[in-house]
Amino acid sequence: MSNTIEHFIDGKRITPSNGTRCEVLNPATNAVLAKVVMDEVSAADKAVASAHAAFRGWSETPVGERCQVLFRFKELLEQHFDELAQMIVDEHGKTTAEARGDVRRGIDCVEYACGAPSLMMGRTLPRIAVSSSFSREREEGIPLDSSLERVPIGVCVGITPFNFPIMVPLWMWPMAVACGNTFVLKPSEKVSLCALREVELAHEAGLPPGVLNMVTGGPDVVNHLLTHDEVKAVSFVGSTAVAKHIYTTASSVGKRVQCMAGAKNTMIIMPDANQDAAIDGVISSSMGNTGQRCLAGSVAVLVGDAPDWFIPRVVEAAKQINVAKGDAHGCTMGPLIDDASVARVTNAIEGGIKAGAELLIDGRDCGQQGGSFVGPTIFDNVPPDSALAMEEIFGPVLSILRVDTLDEAIAVTHRSPYGNMAVMFTDSGYAANKFKDTAGAGMIGINVGVPAPMAVFPFCGWKDSFFGTLHSNGEDSVRFYTEGRILVSRWF
Ligand code: NAD
Repeated sequence: MSNTIEHFIDGKRITPSNGTRCEVLNPATNAVLAKVVMDEVSAADKAVASAHAAFRGWSETPVGERCQVLFRFKELLEQHFDELAQMIVDEHGKTTAEARGDVRRGIDCVEYACGAPSLMMGRTLPRIAVSSSFSREREEGIPLDSSLERVPIGVCVGITPFNFPIMVPLWMWPMAVACGNTFVLKPSEKVSLCALREVELAHEAGLPPGVLNMVTGGPDVVNHLLTHDEVKAVSFVGSTAVAKHIYTTASSVGKRVQCMAGAKNTMIIMPDANQDAAIDGVISSSMGNTGQRCLAGSVAVLVGDAPDWFIPRVVEAAKQINVAKGDAHGCTMGPLIDDASVARVTNAIEGGIKAGAELLIDGRDCGQQGGSFVGPTIFDNVPPDSALAMEEIFGPVLSILRVDTLDEAIAVTHRSPYGNMAVMFTDSGYAANKFKDTAGAGMIGINVGVPAPMAVFPFCGWKDSFFGTLHSNGEDSVRFYTEGRILVSRWF
């Protein structure tokens, strides 16, 4: 009998009392790890009430003191690094190396949030007059002092996807609470065990009850949070269809919203590229995390005679990938998150064959039984308008297109409704610059397969990969989780 994953409300674990339960499986074995309650809306109400009650005291706590908790939390993450990585391997299916990367990138976000005392600083301009049409003072020559302060906004909500169970929640709540807000996290129902442990460690570090709460659940819980009167801001990371729904719903009732969404990322390979770098970059981008990354390069556009060297080498490299349980010796690719993902990826492969693409490597039978496995899959001569070329697959499927010129390659990036990332492998500064300026994506890699920004920079998706104004991370996140307040004053 598996345990039901608790909520974490008002500083403690709370056992769900009712609601529909779903199984959380280890995707490498299909063993049941736990059950998760999907629709206990009353728990969301309790979490928001707790966050609302905690807001005043926490927002009035000096920012330096708030950050001391995050410094201690960072230390706890380092101490529990192996435990958290193993939880990711078990609940998500990543390889051990990928799971460690998830934790490390999450810690980067905590370190950045520890800088809130300087990041939140406002601006001051002493002895400035307001405009003359409003100001008798200016005519009389009396100077006014003006300043801008950044202040917290209230209860913030974070809704996170399955694919980075520790890191993506850390994109959100550490900066939100460092800035003086309180938070309700609704993690993916597929990886709530990892999220619960993260939240628990934050409390071991000294976070006061109510500042950070977590509720498990699915769409019913999310939809309840989106329109809740006491919620001021919503951060979302997940698929584009859900992002559009969340952005529309929450912004229509006046919430501040940021939605980081799905992707279909193009990698252009020029004939002059450093071949080792291009092969390594394309393989790690398309196959890393079993293709379950919003920064997965899933379309490779080969220019001119690049196919001559690229095709045999990329096929050979893909064959070296060892698909297995994430912590198995020598494993270099773990399973997909669940059998529904296996069905989706398998359908995409069958659709590609029907569309006339040439299947170079078929991952449908990768020799692993008992879990949600699909191995590396590569298609050549993919029709540019086919689903393989246009739609997010979120699995280890690389679609290769061939073109004659740089301009034709750049045009491929514009066909996509998404604009998360675009990558070029080349030795030409001219080609790289032209590509950077015209590719139509918010994160650009030059001779880098996964140009994931460090936490000091915003995660800059464009087009259907982002809905909102201020992105996650970097200075965008400080502005998202704070409001500007202007003070104009004079003294006698
Ligand atoms: P998802 O959209 O299915 O789920 C994300 C979250 O939304 C989960 O917490 C889920 O419970 C909730 N949700 C799902 N359906 C909902 C609905 N109908 N109404 C309200 N809430 C709902 O995404 P996923 O499968 O967990 O994650 C994969 C997706 O996330 C991919 O599309 C990937 O590209 C994207 N992603 C984007 C970024 C980015 O920064 N742009 C980063 C990571 C993942």
